[in-house]
Amino acid sequence: MINFYPGPSKIYPQIEAYMQEAIAEGILSMNHRSEPCMRLVAQTIQLCRQKLDIPADYTLFFASSATECWEIIAQSCLRRQAKVLHAYQGAFGKKWASYTQKLSQYAHKDLELTPQAFEKIPDLAGKAEVVCLTPSETSNGTALAYPILEKLLPTHALSALDVTSCLGGVRLPISKGDIWFASVQKCLGLPAGLAIGILSPRAVALAYEIGERSHYNSLTNILDNIQKFQTPYTPNVLGIYLLNKVMQQVPHIDTIDAQTHERAKDWYSFFENIPDCKPLACPDTRSSTVLCLESTPEKISALKQRALENNLIFGNGYDKWKENTYRIANFPALTSEEITAGKVFLEDYFCNNHTDFASNSVCKKL
Ligand SMILES: *Cc1c(COP(=O)(O)O)cnc(C)c1O
Repeated sequence: MINFYPGPSKIYPQIEAYMQEAIAEGILSMNHRSEPCMRLVAQTIQLCRQKLDIPADYTLFFASSATECWEIIAQSCLRRQAKVLHAYQGAFGKKWASYTQKLSQYAHKDLELTPQAFEKIPDLAGKAEVVCLTPSETSNGTALAYPILEKLLPTHALSALDVTSCLGGVRLPISKGDIWFASVQKCLGLPAGLAIGILSPRAVALAYEIGERSHYNSLTNILDNIQKFQTPYTPNVLGIYLLNKVMQQVPHIDTIDAQTHERAKDWYSFFENIPDCKPLACPDTRSSTVLCLESTPEKISALKQRALENNLIFGNGYDKWKENTYRIANFPALTSEEITAGKVFLEDYFCNNHTDFASNSVCKKL
């Protein structure tokens, strides 16, 4: 089965052997405060730093999911009455905003990033103390292009960035932001149940200044523990072990970044020649890691059925784009052969097998 689902997504095929190794090495019943476990955590952090090019003065920590990170930020990183701006362009960013709203009584503003709204951002971000962004919005395949993102990353306000569907797939301007986090089951090609958090020195300072300690996952508790390469609760040791192995196996993020952009370019130009199926996002806001394609609900439901019969899985549409879109992950764990197979299938489905498109001149160009 070729899996283009953008999360949970295709895991690296080596995971099977790594899991067997984890069992054979006794990793799974290891005490999480023991020397060997602390060594594993320390080495994993070091590998992430190296492969993902995370600045030396940034602190890494582990959590269970991106959703947990939304909560950690709301409970531990907002001062009383802090002005928080959530600028979002899809369902995940919006859900994050609603968590912040429910968990904190702080002054809070949402801004849906329609193209018209972009102009307002520098002004609004200027007034905010914390700005929350989702550089790659998994629900609709939109992204904040780097020039926009860099403009959005304010220097005085703290920035929090949900990079669940792009960390590990593209190079991120880590040093320009403060709180970065991602679940591992998307771009990192791992099974779900672990998230990586990355904090700038001033994000760490802010967490201690606020000093919120009422929760098992209060950021101060997490930080106290990670200094000793531990976690407040028993962590997903298998997840950390697998992350360690995958970080050893993958090339440096610069190599992956080049491949992701090349493949994204090829995917988008491929769809220029496919009738009745177009990227939902306009060209300057397209994600390189998650493609969201629009067609009619009828074509999409038949497409998914036919794909399954051909051992292919595409991602369902999400939220308000559920019926009229499907999604394709452009994550590094997918091979070039799998991508070619996906394209052959889609070309055949949209161009050849449907008599109403058989004479479509666009298809003949393929
Ligand atoms: C998938 C996803 C999440 C949720 O991840 P969990 O591991 O289920 O918490 C959050 N944000 C984005 C951008 C995502 O793609």
